[in-house]
This record gives sequence, C-alpha cells and structure tokens, in this order.
Amino acid sequence: MRLTVIGTGYLGATHAACMAELGHEVLGVDVDPDKVAALRAGRVPFHEPGLPELIAQHTASGRLRFTGDYEEAGAFADVHFVCVGTPQLKGSEGADLTYVDAAFAAIAEHAGPDALLVGKSTVPVGTAGRLADTHTGAEVAWNPEFLREGFAVEDTLRPDRLVFGVRSKRAETILRAVYAPVLAAGTPLVTADLPTAELVKTAANAFLATKISFINAMAEMCEVAGGDVGVLAEAIGHDDRIGRKFLRAGIGFGGGCLPKDIRAFAHRADELGVSLAFLREVDAINMRRRDKVVELARELCGGSVLGARIAVLGAAFKPDSDDIRDSPALNVAARLRLDGADVTVHDPEAMDNARKVFPLLGYALSAEEALQRADLVLHLTEWPQYREIDPVRARSTVSRPRIVDGRGVLDADRWTAAGWQFRALGRPGSV
Ligand code: NAD
Repeated sequence: MRLTVIGTGYLGATHAACMAELGHEVLGVDVDPDKVAALRAGRVPFHEPGLPELIAQHTASGRLRFTGDYEEAGAFADVHFVCVGTPQLKGSEGADLTYVDAAFAAIAEHAGPDALLVGKSTVPVGTAGRLADTHTGAEVAWNPEFLREGFAVEDTLRPDRLVFGVRSKRAETILRAVYAPVLAAGTPLVTADLPTAELVKTAANAFLATKISFINAMAEMCEVAGGDVGVLAEAIGHDDRIGRKFLRAGIGFGGGCLPKDIRAFAHRADELGVSLAFLREVDAINMRRRDKVVELARELCGGSVLGARIAVLGAAFKPDSDDIRDSPALNVAARLRLDGADVTVHDPEAMDNARKVFPLLGYALSAEEALQRADLVLHLTEWPQYREIDPVRARSTVSRPRIVDGRGVLDADRWTAAGWQFRALGRPGSV
C-alpha cells in the first residue's frame, strides 16, 4: 500500500520506517526542512536503536521517501498517518493542538475523496470527533501509539496490541490491511469508537504514571519511617494483581509524554465535568522526588552545594534515548547549578541536546572525566554502562566518595564496601 506519515519526529520517523519495513511505500512529511533533509540523506536526527539501519535500508531501496510538500503527499496516497507533536500549552495544563489541527487541515485540503486520515498523536478525548466533523471530505480514524523510546522499532513491529478507533467498517478494513503482517503475527486488536481509542492512550499513560508515583510515595513513607522501599516493592510485586513492573522507586518519570499527558488528561476531565484530580497528586509526588535528590545533595555536601563539584551521570529522561524533554536528571543538575554548584554532566547520547538547552552546565566526554575531583556523584539516568562503573576505581578519581543513586539500581553493598557514602531514595540511611 501507499501511505504518508505526517510529522517525522520520534513517533513519525519510527512509524514511517516500520511501515516501509512491513512492505508499504511510504512518504514522510514534515514542516521542518532540516529534518526532511537529514532523513532524505538516511540520517536520523535523534537516537533510537535500530532506526538508522531501517531508515538507511528503505531510503536506499526507494520505498521510503521524505518531503515537505503536502500537495505531493495528498497525491501520493489515500492513507495518511498524522504523528505531529501535542506538547503542553504554555501557561496551561492542556494540550497544544495547533500542530494536529494544522496537519489535518493541510492534508485534508490535498487529500483525495477516498482518503483516510489516521491520527496517531496523543490527544484529549473529543479531538478526533471534532476533526472528523470539520474535515468531512475525508474519513478520520484514530490509531493511538504506545511505543517506548529506546524500544520504538520493536514496539512498532511487534506491539502489545493495536487499537483502531473508527467510525466505519471501511476504515477498519483499511487499517487491518496496513497492519496485516503485524496482525498475522497474533497481535491483539481492539476496535473502538473514536473517543474510546483516544482515551485508551491517555488511560494507559495515567495508569503507568500512577504506578510510578505510588511506589515513590511509598519511598517517601520509607524515608520517614525507616523502611526499605526496595524490599517493599519486591514483596508487593509478588502479588500477581500488583505485578513487579514499574515498581522501582527513584527520581520519577519525565520525557515528552507522561508528564504532559497526565496534565492534559486532568485538564480535559475538568472541561468535561469529571474529576481526575488524583493525577495532579501523581504529578506532585513525581516532582517531589526531584526536590528530594536536590535536598540529599545539599545534605551530603554539608548543608550547601555552593562551590561543590557535582558529577551528574545522565541527561536523557531515560536510557537508550537522547530525548531531554522534561528530564529529571537535567532538572536536578540545573537546580544545583543555580544553588552555586559546579555541575558536570555526562550522557552517552544526549549531550548535544542538553548543551543546547542548558549551556551553563559543564559537560564531560566520559563518565570517568565527569567523576574527576567530584565532591558528589548523582546517578540520575539508568544507562547500563553506569552500572558497570567500578566503585573502587571511581573512588580514586573523586575528591570525596559520596553518591546518590537516583534510580535505585546500583549495588549499595559494593559501593559502601569500596568506602563510598551511598544514598538511594526510599532506602535506610537515605534521609
Ligand atoms: P516530536 O516533536 O519528536 O515530532 C513532531 C514532528 O512533527 C516534528 O518533526 C515537527 O516538525 C512535525 N510537525 C509539526 N507540525 C507539523 C505539520 N503541521 N505538518 C507536518 N509536520 C509537522 O514529537 P513525538 O515525540 O514524535 O510525538 C508526536 C506525538 O506522538 C505526540 O502526540 C506524542 O504524545 C505522541 N507519542 C509519542 C511517543 C514517544 O515516545 N515520543 C509515544 C507515543 C505517542
């Protein structure tokens, strides 16, 4: 089939490449000429494992092309996936739908009468229906996306489930044809109406955020009561109804999705006269964990970080990504710098992005370099290589052997045995 993918950021570039991998002829469309130029040259302008190979392979074969021209897009295909951003509005919790509205308007103007416009962006419930009622010349469907950055290719080719929000059997048949190889592999399909499909995505993100903040609230309890949240999580995780995943206490979630999606969800609920106020508490718990790391840093530095050399391991909001949107690690790093600390950040992939947004932080080319003469080390993004750091060798590099494990994955016994003052969130001795 011939498809277009409108918006070629983290979601759209991955979707376009994976659709080509499934055998379709794909035209990616973006309003950012630099992005189009990079992708045309087979270069992916962000870090995502496996994606550069797919883009290179399919741009070389000609099955995947990129353009900035909506007229070309309208003429190229009858199925158009819209993957543009839906960031948080400035000065509001709500989602900014400017890009979604602009993309639908532009493709609707050029699409043929049989076109199916398929939204993949995460939107407040009611958006798809509104767009369907506005652009009556084409049909609108919603196919929310659940991919995780760092696993985006795998999640797109082998998703846990597909959700088709449709108003007609015809739209469902077209989407079934698009995803035929994925469905043939046994992927569960949920067909729904438009509002349900939109809600599935925001509900899933709200649930995940709540689970993370739940265990982080338990970490807060452990800190004041002298408990160990690691042991607590293991014990409750044995209960199948609770499960072990997403139960690791730490500095909390960030990124371009969870924080803005729960805020937009609570905001939309208010508009519709329903209260999802608990999501504001989920958000508040999450932000308090960042405060806690800053507080621990002050405490370990003797009450003030002024003039302290602090090494921050990690800048991306999660490992295997260079995405720094709402990154807890950079938030903490920037606050410590404002408090007068001399902060040096290392990240295997996100340094260029971090430098653009936080030019006043110091940057080291390796973790070893960041650690040199540090008075305090903060482990804030869970890159696997940071777990490989040898505490004995690291001790000879730093000025003072003090570390905060903001991700709850380092081996406390090993670090303590090597002479480090070791702190982790929600664990004994951490307050
Ligand atoms: P992004 O900012 O990386 O990409 C958005 C792209 O859309 C940019 O390249 C931008 O230039 C382009 N764009 C903006 N307006 C356009 C227009 N009118 N026409 C064509 N292109 C336009 O954002 P993202 O992370 O890919 O997220 C996109 C959507 O997918 C959001 O709604 C997000 O919530 C959702 N989502 C993201 C992820 C993820 O892990 N990143 C996962 C699931 C869902």
